[in-house]
Formats: sequence, C-alpha cells, structure tokens
Amino acid sequence: MSEALTEYQGPATMEKITSLAKRRGFVFQSSEIYGGQNGAWDYGPLGIELKNRIAQAWWKEMTRLNDNIAGLDAAILMHPRTWEASGHVENFTDPLVDCKKCKTRFRADMISEENLAAKKCPECGGELTDTRKFNLMFKTHIGPTEDNAGTIYLRPETAQGIYVNYKNVIQSSRMKIPFGIAQIGKAFRNEIVTKNFIFRTCEFEQMEMQFFVKPGSDVEWFNEWKKRRWAYYEKLGVKMERLRWHQHGPDELAHYAKDAYDIQYLFPMGWRELEGVHNRTDYDLTRHIEFSGKDLQYIDQDNNNERYIPYIIETSAGLTRTLLMLLCDSYDEEQVLPDKKPGTEASEGALDIRTVLRFHPSIAPVTAAVLPLMKKDGLAELAQDIRNELKEDFAVDYDQAGAIGRRYRRQDEAGTPFCVTVDYQSKDDGTVTLRFRDSMEQVRLPRQSLSERLRKEIKEYKRIK
Ligand code: ATP
Repeated sequence: MSEALTEYQGPATMEKITSLAKRRGFVFQSSEIYGGQNGAWDYGPLGIELKNRIAQAWWKEMTRLNDNIAGLDAAILMHPRTWEASGHVENFTDPLVDCKKCKTRFRADMISEENLAAKKCPECGGELTDTRKFNLMFKTHIGPTEDNAGTIYLRPETAQGIYVNYKNVIQSSRMKIPFGIAQIGKAFRNEIVTKNFIFRTCEFEQMEMQFFVKPGSDVEWFNEWKKRRWAYYEKLGVKMERLRWHQHGPDELAHYAKDAYDIQYLFPMGWRELEGVHNRTDYDLTRHIEFSGKDLQYIDQDNNNERYIPYIIETSAGLTRTLLMLLCDSYDEEQVLPDKKPGTEASEGALDIRTVLRFHPSIAPVTAAVLPLMKKDGLAELAQDIRNELKEDFAVDYDQAGAIGRRYRRQDEAGTPFCVTVDYQSKDDGTVTLRFRDSMEQVRLPRQSLSERLRKEIKEYKRIK
C-alpha cells in the first residue's frame, strides 16, 4: 500500500478545475443567467456522461459482481414518520453561528475552538452569535394546503428507502442474510456552507449500499467492506497515495453508528471525506419497528426460524463528490512537444503545456474520437463511416474542425483516451492511426481491428502518470 501524502502535490487547483469543468461542459452553475443558485449545479454534455459512467461502474461493482446484493430505486418523498424514526427530525442538525458584523454564516464545528470561545469571527474579527442548532432537512408541503399535516421532507440520505423496503426485497427475491441492497439517487441537505465547487451541495447524489448481517458478525463484515471499498478505488485507477482512512472519534460518530470510517481524498483544498463505511447496528430497523408497529425481524429459515433484527453495514459514497474527486485526480499539466502528424516521423514545433484528464478509459465520457486529417478528398466521409461503426460499442466523438494538433489537445482536455486519425493512407490501405492520450504515442493498424484493440486497451489500461 502506498504511503498517504501529507499535503496536496499536483497541478490542480479548485479554480482550474471549476473553469475547465465549465469550459468543456462538465459542470455549469445552476440558473447561471439569474446569477446562479447556491448549492446547486448542472451537469453538461460531458458531465452527465461522466456521472453516468461513475454510477455504472459502482452499480456493476456492487450488484453484478456480488451475487448477494440487489438493487433498488426508492422515492425521494417518503412518509414523514420515516424521518422521525430515523432520528433525522431530532438529530440531523449542524451547529450554526453568524457574524453580527460581516453577516457570514459558519458551521460552528468548522471554526477554531479559540475563535468560538472568544465569539470572534474568523473572517473579520466581528462578534459571533450564540451557537444554535439548524436542521439540514428540506421541508416542504404535499397537497394543496400548507399546514403541518402536509409536511414532507426531501430525503437527506437514500439509506432509509432501503431500510423500509428490506422485507419487500427479501420476500420478492429470496435474499438470505448476509445480503445487501444498493441504491443510487438524489439526496438533499440544506447545507450552511457550500463552497469548493460541487464538493458540498444542497442537491447531490449518493451511491449507497446497506448490507444486512447477523448481529455478532457485524465487525467482521465491517472490516470486509472497508477492504472492498478501498480496493474499488484502486481499480478505478485513483492515485492511492491521495487516499486515507479516517476513523470517527466519539464526537463525530452519528447518532446511529457503532463505528465509522471515512475514506478521505486529498483534494487541492486538503483531505476531505469521499465515502463513509458505517456500522449502523440495528438502530434504524429497531426504530422503524417502533414507529411503524411492523415486525421487521429477520426469520432465519435455515436455522430453526431464529428471529433477530439484523445489523447493518453501510457504504455511502457521494456520486457527485466522486465526480469532483475524479476531475481532481485525473487533472494533469505537462510540458510536451506537439503531437506528430500521422504519417510523419517526428513532431515539429516548440514545447508547450498541455492539460490532460487522465480518466480511466472505462470512466472517460468519450472513449474514442475519430478525426479526419483533412475534411476534403473523402477523408471526412471515411472518418464518419468509422465513427458510425464504432458508436454501437463505444462512446465516440467526431471532430473535423481545426489543425490536428489542436484537436488532440481538445480531446486531452476532455479526457478522451483514444483518438483515431484518418489520413490519405487510410484511403489507400484501410489503416488508421490510433493515438494514446497518456503517452501521445501513435500506432497504425487496420481499421478492421480497431474495436478489438480498443476493448483490449480499455481492459488492460494502466495509468502511467
Ligand atoms: P459531512 O460531515 O461532510 O457533512 P457526512 O458525514 O454528513 O458529511 P454522510 O452522511 O456520511 O456525510 O454522507 C455520505 C456521503 O455522501 C459523503 O461521504 C459524501 O460523499 C456525500 N455527501 C454528503 N453530503 C454531501 C453534500 N452536501 N454534497 C455532496 N455530497 C455529499
């Protein structure tokens, strides 16, 4: 295992990431023409592809590669009693202070103890208000009247949708403990401080898996899921020295948790939580039994119908936060010579800085871009024909605008791992040039073997930098 770094070393800054994300259509500010909406972001053409790819990779890892994990998609709006049972109405709060002078709002647990004790604003030195509790759930009304009877919440986590359905899943799919339920979906939190781009937003997406186990085997399964989730990031090609475990101390532990570890990632602004692995014990199911009056005990038919309330191990990752992590992790700048023109021996021109996103090819929004060297002499038609052939199996882009070197750089910045260039020789002998994003190397190969080669390259991909 590589040693975790102590501080961020790399070319990315949040400003560069935010600006690239906008420029290339990954992420836009929500309602930008009205000045933007705090805590909300829109995913553009490349962003939605990337988000979908991350979700698919997680889904495959959790459901398809695990025989004992089933999927679910529960509604965002749940019966309000759910949130009383879960403890969110009472406990899902952040401590909040305001500066009386500059009006900045802070989470009290995010400013230094000295400042808090002295009631001194860390921004302007003004006086701070007393700390008060602020519930993070978005409350709205269902039905035509805005009275308390119609109060309903936007879910602050996807987990509860899984707990209230766990018996339905057992009954409909013959699951036996130990087993898990996976879900990807939106969650909403009225966050006090939303900075650092999409890191902490009011509307976001989670990828959660709840694993139901027999009490007593929970510690073992907790350790097992810690191991598996760590290995997952390695598989995604993440720089492992930028990951570390952080165990929750007694002050941080959520009201439902017996033990909790976060996988933290070293973002340009420092170490921050990426995913939590929690031992939620039988807290949630016990509370739902209490509040719903339904028997949610598990009946172990292989063991004399023994009844018990399962313990739950949760792995909870932010989908949109993972997207930000992957943008930061894959971002690179390097000084290079221009790409050589297909068909020539050496590159010509001066050293230049290129920006490149080194996404794993299975995650990259565009897998391959097809580029005709020239528009004329039938090269564009040939390139489009190749694009049409590849697009059944791969996410393919087509670009014929501008000098070939500039087009390679555009694809680098979008994180496209492969470019297929069509030149005059392609017309004569049916070969094309395959150019690799990371090494900028080029190989010539027959058009017919492109698909197979791409599949092989994706499967055997190793990050070189
Ligand atoms: P924090 O203490 O940073 O507010 P948390 O410990 O409350 O976060 P969890 O409730 O464990 O977070 O949520 C699980 C995962 O969901 C987090 O690891 C993170 O990836 C994601 N997440 C939580 N809140 C947000 C948010 N406001 N915006 C984006 N992602 C979030």
